[in-house]
Amino acid sequence: MGARSYVAEARRKKVMPKKDRIGPIIEELAAEHADARIALTFSNPLELLVSVMLSAQTTDVNVNRVTGKLFRKYRRPEDYLAVPHEELERDIFQTGFYRQKAKSLRGTMRRILEEHDGEVPTAFDDLLRLPGVARKTANVVVSERGDPQGIVVDTHVRRLSQRLGLTKQEDPVKIERDLVRLVPRADWARFPHLLIWHGRRICDARRPRCEDCPLAADLCPSSRI
Ligand code: SF4
Repeated sequence: MGARSYVAEARRKKVMPKKDRIGPIIEELAAEHADARIALTFSNPLELLVSVMLSAQTTDVNVNRVTGKLFRKYRRPEDYLAVPHEELERDIFQTGFYRQKAKSLRGTMRRILEEHDGEVPTAFDDLLRLPGVARKTANVVVSERGDPQGIVVDTHVRRLSQRLGLTKQEDPVKIERDLVRLVPRADWARFPHLLIWHGRRICDARRPRCEDCPLAADLCPSSRI
């Protein structure tokens, strides 16, 4: 069964076409969530990549809890290959799906050492070729390094884009296609963070707090007020 759809909610209120709303929506959200940024804690590209890989199917808070210790022990790609496989599994166990994640991490580290001189590649396509690195992971990594190639679509971005009437799609790849057509390229990196923070703080999945939302008056077709 697919995730719940919010497309139908965007019929509550008549608003301007989305191309006229996107600028003001970004402005309002940027003012409301000036602190919106990636919630993962990292201090270099390798830690960023590992954090994003570990964040699949779990919360950023949970990942940070694990990586606080992990990054003291594993500082270079070699370190992930120097320990027995089971030890790495144990060290990332709390992020869930630890078997698959450990396998991906080791495959990725091997590839980084063999083909990229031990450095995390900067090109989107090179990142995508790393074992276990999906489009979303590659997108997050290049965005955080200042070169977004697309717009990261997670569960909050999906819900908010649907509620705001920015897409009628359900599939993340198609949602991203709609968003990159609409959102100015200069905003590709921060746009998902704005939606994610707005989703966490105000536009809750079950109980959106429209009465506290700066988009409610004339920018959101799902507004309940
Ligand atoms: S909280 Fe804001 S963005 Fe969410 S449905 Fe209400 S008005 Fe729209």
